[in-house]
Formats: sequence, structure tokens, C-alpha cells
Amino acid sequence: MSSLKGKIALVTGASRGIGKSIALELAASGAFVVLNCTSRGVEKAEDVLKTIRSNGGDGMVKAFSVSDSESVNQAVDEILKEKGAIHILVNNAGIAKDALFMRMKDEEWDDTLNTNLKGSALCARAVVRPMMKAKEGVIINITSVVGEMGNAGQAAYSASKAGLIGLTKTLAKELASRNIRVNAIAPGFIDTEMTVDLPESAKSEMLKVIPMGRMGSGKEIADAVLWLASDKSTYITGQVISINGGMYV
Ligand code: NAP
Repeated sequence: MSSLKGKIALVTGASRGIGKSIALELAASGAFVVLNCTSRGVEKAEDVLKTIRSNGGDGMVKAFSVSDSESVNQAVDEILKEKGAIHILVNNAGIAKDALFMRMKDEEWDDTLNTNLKGSALCARAVVRPMMKAKEGVIINITSVVGEMGNAGQAAYSASKAGLIGLTKTLAKELASRNIRVNAIAPGFIDTEMTVDLPESAKSEMLKVIPMGRMGSGKEIADAVLWLASDKSTYITGQVISINGGMYV
């Protein structure tokens, strides 16, 4: 895999789970990684940064909520002042508040859409100007298999992730002429804190519909992020890469 030396990457939701794996992988390839999380996750993000540094990489922690426009813009300004550019944005921060549609509360819909969809749009908008200035950029949106296929009990989450696919395709078309590539990755059932609390019965039902018969790992998602961020994928934009063990084909 080619080097990301000299590249500045912002990974949202990098305190744990898939975002942590992505941050470790990008840093291992030479990128300076800005690890975002909410104020709740700072300690964990600092631990990720320690691991990055002990492996010879570098980065910094930047806590802000992706759903708050002012905080996003301020954080991006601070990163630019300190590092001069943002070449790679990985919109990974996400939440899932599952409920049957008839019982879903307004607040659950708003929180999910605000974090997963609006948060990704706000971060993308904030980095596009510096990317244009740098005449290069890569944006990778972490959507979900349920954004492609739907899932009972996940109306808000599925809608937010399907919306992210629409955002990905539109930004790809708007920004291609500026040498900014925008792609999405749609993970299937991945072993993280988001899935750890699912009842065993729900997990075994899920595994039955995965031809590969197992959950995926954060590393398996991070490997694809690394590829999309690298110069090994320079003619790829507007695509959704499904990584789901055959769950949705
Ligand atoms: P996770 O373990 O629950 O981690 C979520 C991350 O998002 C944490 O770092 C969290 O930070 C951060 N976050 C949440 N709200 C935020 C906000 N408003 N602003 C900034 N950061 C915020 O989740 P995961 O399983 O790694 O999932 C990562 C992404 O992959 C999500 O977009 C998820 O929808 C997607 N995905 C996951 C799966 C799966 O099976 N796990 C499948 C498909 C797609 P704090 O530590 O501060 O809370």
C-alpha cells in the first residue's frame, strides 16, 4: 500500500470501534491523524493516540460534536491553523437508537439523523474549502449495509445511512473537477461496542444471514478506508464499497 506520509487525516468517532481501527491504519501508513470524538470519549481517544505514537506515528485529539455546526467549523479552523491542510476526512462518527417505527420518538429520529447524516455533511462542508485550496482531497463516508437494504427496527438509522449514500454520490459529482474524491463504505455486522450489547439471540439470527458466518472486524473496514484514501484508487469516486461477508449481495 502506498504511503500517506505528509497527509493530514481527520477521522470522526475515532475513540473506539471502527473509527479507532481506521485511525490506527491511516497513522501506520504515515498520515498525521486527528482523532475526533465527543467530550465523553476523550480519555479513550488519548489512549488511541498513545498507541499510534508507540507505533511511530503521530496525531492529535480534537473533541467536538459533529452535529454542531459551530463546533465543527471551529475545530476545522484550529486544525488548519496548526497543520495547514486536511487531505483526508473519514466521516465515521455514528449512533444507533433502535426502535420499532410506530414507537419511535421524535428525539430518537432527530439525534440519529443529526449525528449520522447532518454531522457528516457539516464535516464535509468544513473541509471542502481547504481541500480545494490544496487541489486534492478524499472524503470517505461510513454508511451501513442497512442503508442499502433497510432493517426492521432501524428506521432512523437506515434512513440516515441511505441519506449518506445520496450525499456521497452528490458530493462526488460536485467535487470531481476539484480533484476531491468522495466514496462510501457500507459495513455489515462488525464487532464493536455498537453491536456488543445485542442479545445473543439477535446475534445468532444475524449470523445466519451472513454467508461467511462471522462478524467483520474494524481492521477489515480500515483496510478499505486506507485503499480509498491512497493513490491506489485515484479513478474511484461516488462509489459505495460493501464489506459485509456476503450479507447483502
Ligand atoms: P461505536 O463503537 O459506537 O463508536 C462510535 C464513535 O462515534 C465513538 O467514537 C463516538 O465517540 C463517536 N460519536 C458518536 N456521536 C458523536 C458525535 N456527535 N460527535 C463526534 N463523535 C461522535 O460505533 P462503531 O460500531 O465503531 O461504528 C462506527 C461507524 O460505523 C458508525 O457510523 C456506524 O453507524 C457504522 N457502522 C457500524 C456497524 C457495526 O456493525 N458496528 C455496521 C455498519 C456501520 P464517543 O466515544 O465520544 O462517544
